[in-house]
Amino acid sequence: MNAADDKTIVKDYFNSTGFDRWRRIYCGGEVNKVQLDIRNGHQQTVETVLNWLQDDDLAGMSVCDAGCGVGSLSIPLAQAGARVYASDISEKMIGEAKRAVAELANTDNLTFAVQDLEHLSGKYHTVVCLDVLIHYPQEQAAEMISHLCSLAESRLILSFAPKTPALSLLKKIGSFFPGPSKATRAYLHKEADVVKILNSQGLTIQRQAMTRTRFYFSRILEAVRT
Ligand code: SAM
Repeated sequence: MNAADDKTIVKDYFNSTGFDRWRRIYCGGEVNKVQLDIRNGHQQTVETVLNWLQDDDLAGMSVCDAGCGVGSLSIPLAQAGARVYASDISEKMIGEAKRAVAELANTDNLTFAVQDLEHLSGKYHTVVCLDVLIHYPQEQAAEMISHLCSLAESRLILSFAPKTPALSLLKKIGSFFPGPSKATRAYLHKEADVVKILNSQGLTIQRQAMTRTRFYFSRILEAVRT
């Protein structure tokens, strides 16, 4: 399958069944036990990243949230004072994010746009990309990471499902991201490969964390320019 096909599948998924599923997981409402576990895991990832970001003075800091989904990170980040440019390949996800933000105060510093991260341009103090790489095989993920590095003046924060022997086995037996999310493939990435790409683009790892619940696994890396 070529890169364009992969992307079309992901885009279509997040504009249809994937949108319904992930909106429920991310935005609250009735979910089953697996989805509740994933919701809790994802929330932990968002909180870890928010805590890291809040260690710096957020007032006016420019942040690009690539593949922002329904704005789970972008919205609290903007409310904390950062200037946030948030984009996603899915119109439906962005529509939901805009709907959520319309009801909130202090969000003039937040922009949502429908955009494939490959087409992002400009420079940002910090670029964040959470739980997006899981939808792409290694080669495409490598290109995406390099592109995100080129947008980051000071820092890139990435999260991905790590390719460990235990997770590879879980994936094989179908316990990893079970249920309808199998409509898209879930790709695991070797941490060493991700770090190598970051290093080749002049960034070094400053902090790392791991979110692990029963069905949700996300390795979080903060890479900075030195
Ligand atoms: N980052 C958000 C978060 O953590 O709340 C959303 C994570 S969700 C699992 C993955 C998101 O990545 C979806 O909203 C999907 O539409 C988006 N996405 C997938 N491929 C993308 C691409 N090539 N460019 C931009 N967004 C993409």
